[in-house]
Amino acid sequence: MNKDLALAVLVGLFFLPLLLLPLVSQEDLGGPLSFPPVASGSFRSYVVRSGDTLAGLADRYGIPLSWLVASNGLLAPGAIYPGQELVLPQGGVLHTLRAGQGLADLAATYGVSEEEIRKANGLSGDPLPGQRLLIPEPRTVPQAAVLELGGEGGRFIWPLKGRLTSLFGPRTHPIYGTPDFHTGIDLAVPEGTQVHAAAPGTVTWAGTRGGYGLLVIVDHGDGYSTYYGHLSRILVHVGQFVEVGQVIGLSGNTGLSTGPHLHFEIRNLGEPIDPLPLLP
Ligand SMILES: [Zn+2]
Repeated sequence: MNKDLALAVLVGLFFLPLLLLPLVSQEDLGGPLSFPPVASGSFRSYVVRSGDTLAGLADRYGIPLSWLVASNGLLAPGAIYPGQELVLPQGGVLHTLRAGQGLADLAATYGVSEEEIRKANGLSGDPLPGQRLLIPEPRTVPQAAVLELGGEGGRFIWPLKGRLTSLFGPRTHPIYGTPDFHTGIDLAVPEGTQVHAAAPGTVTWAGTRGGYGLLVIVDHGDGYSTYYGHLSRILVHVGQFVEVGQVIGLSGNTGLSTGPHLHFEIRNLGEPIDPLPLLP
């Protein structure tokens, strides 16, 4: 009887790895480990020490500041802390592909050709979400706007630099002269000014909507969404994942508007909230 038991255990031990095998390979299919490595020597890791600044690191390692911001998904350049692990990219930006981002989107966003991206990463098929890609020598880096509009902290960056002409809250409607609740803030800027995504997220609206005129809505995936109204031109499409700082459109004067400005709105769980406390 003891022999039988021993045999059963042995058989069990033999088959156990076989039972686990499908689970392990299943995980490999979706895990980042199964991706081929990006071009060798295209980045190194660095652990932030006290006293380090992003600008200092950029200087020390000869890396453009915007590449550092972009490769590390930073919303605020001042927000690095001792012990934080950073990626120091070499030869370009190290981009982590998000669902809703195709090679064509990346090429347009960074001003490089699809072919250049393919070549730098030895890509034959389409890359998968989560995959890290080297964007070689990008001509534009959307996250460069973080340096200009992001300040030292905060959940969002400013969508542009403009004169604040109307605050969030109760007001008299500028066109109808009736009591009204302003669901965002207005920033006066010349028509055609670049409008930047205030945080990374997925475009859920890109077109005309009532008084907003030409409107872009970005869903940030954590209950927050941002609205950019009265645009003159839209440069993104529904379903596209946009980086923080990415130019999503040009400001304008469309919809119910008394002059060229950007209407910027932040919603939490669909409800408009005052953007100012969330901005740098
Ligand atoms: Zn407004």
